[in-house]
Amino acid sequence: MARYTDAVCKLCRREGQKLFLKGDRCLSPKCAVDRRPFPPGDHGRKNAMRRKVSEYGIQLREKQKARRMYGVLERQFRRYFEEASRRKGLTGATLLALLESRLDNVVYRLGLADSRSQARQLVRHGHFAVNGIKTDIPSFLVTPGDVIVIRERSRATIYFKERTQLLSSGNVPSWLAMDAAAMSGSVLNAPTREEIAVPLNEQLIVEYYSR
Ligand code: SF4
Repeated sequence: MARYTDAVCKLCRREGQKLFLKGDRCLSPKCAVDRRPFPPGDHGRKNAMRRKVSEYGIQLREKQKARRMYGVLERQFRRYFEEASRRKGLTGATLLALLESRLDNVVYRLGLADSRSQARQLVRHGHFAVNGIKTDIPSFLVTPGDVIVIRERSRATIYFKERTQLLSSGNVPSWLAMDAAAMSGSVLNAPTREEIAVPLNEQLIVEYYSR
């Protein structure tokens, strides 16, 4: 399946809530969910009023929401679920911890990008090193103790100079730490469910895959 390339605001409107896929625009009055709070399409508004959603439909939407938030394709998302099922602990919370541990998400959480898609592009372009090794794979999973740095040649770019000046450590989740002066971030611990600020009901996703 190809990566989604249509207008991403449609994804938020389909899910009926902000998925924060576009950085600052999501917090502005231009946000499509605020301006047109009904599903996309010619009959979106009419269908939304008529629609009765089944239990399966609710579970499916929650899974799609998670997938779209993290920008993960179906096959890969299922692999994360299978991995979470194999690990000890609550499958839903482990699934979210795996998604949060992706390098593109970590770059976003550290405040080095406005959105996960921008973070993914920065990672792909080779701007980061993990534990001293250039890492350009967005799905790379970080673990406690890992140090993510902006690579030497990227530090001089206007983007990263301006970005690191704007960084505020207060916005970084408690499982990560950001040192703006050193242009590096570190993973303090594996994220717990309480530390993952996403409006998702992971139990519905577990139920979706357990049918
Ligand atoms: Fe979603 Fe952001 Fe577009 Fe609003 S502006 S609809 S939150 S992607």
